[in-house]
Amino acid sequence: MSFDSLGLSPHLLATIENAGYTQPTPIQSQAIPPIIEGADVLGAAQTGTGKTAAFVLPILERLGTSHQKKPRVLVLAPTRELAAQVAESVATYAGDTKLKHTVVFGGVGYQPQISAFKRGVDIVVATPGRLIDYYKQKIYTLAAIEVAVLDEADRMFDLGFIDDVRYLFRKMPPAGERQNLLFSATLSHRVLELAYEHMNAPETVKSDTERVNIGAITQTLYHVSKDDKMALLIGLLREIGDARTLIFINTKRVAERIDDTLAANGFNAATLSGDVAQNKRLR
Ligand code: AMP
Repeated sequence: MSFDSLGLSPHLLATIENAGYTQPTPIQSQAIPPIIEGADVLGAAQTGTGKTAAFVLPILERLGTSHQKKPRVLVLAPTRELAAQVAESVATYAGDTKLKHTVVFGGVGYQPQISAFKRGVDIVVATPGRLIDYYKQKIYTLAAIEVAVLDEADRMFDLGFIDDVRYLFRKMPPAGERQNLLFSATLSHRVLELAYEHMNAPETVKSDTERVNIGAITQTLYHVSKDDKMALLIGLLREIGDARTLIFINTKRVAERIDDTLAANGFNAATLSGDVAQNKRLR
């Protein structure tokens, strides 16, 4: 299957080619045509399946290329990092249009985000909390929303944002007057219930979640005593050389200790946790 058969305009096909994508991922080939037609879509897809492009590209197709100075599309994401990533995709895919977008999340200054709303935006990508702040301050309205996207819906529940999400949905035109897209790694009972409340007879599309990049990953398990862990880690990192490495830790305190030890051993490492300031996290 190629991107040509999905109903996207030549300018978007050129953007896709520039991004270096040669063929759509399964979630893209299933979701793009119904979204272009205006259907509600409920997608079961994890990060890494190409799900962002699966909704951003057809939304851009529907919006056209001209800027209208009021939020017409709202994408809600559970975490600041995901919101930032989605906004980066919007910037890439909408790069050759006059459409304006902004990203809204907590932990950073208010003024730049407020200024973006004042200048006028077509697409808003946001985490729920800060967006509600601005709503209550009447910085923007949701009255002209044509497309509402809920990304990683299951994590919205896990992180306790679901009441905020429902609040924002209620401020938009009724579900029947807007297009609703919901993506979630799992289509659990609570996610389906949410879909039932806020969507119109959605078409369900599923990515082959088992296949996400697994083929490209070699997994190795080391049985090692607690006292030897640090030495093993440093040995492995030396062996790996320049490759970029992610280390998952169960507590912030251990993360800091490892960060210090890595720095003392000459590694350029940084910690990402809830205690780290947002600007530093993004950097
Ligand atoms: P996502 O699942 O949206 O987080 O996307 C995962 C990664 O896949 C991103 O880095 C995208 O740039 C990339 N990607 C999206 N669609 C395609 C495609 N059709 N071909 C190759 N890479 C893609």
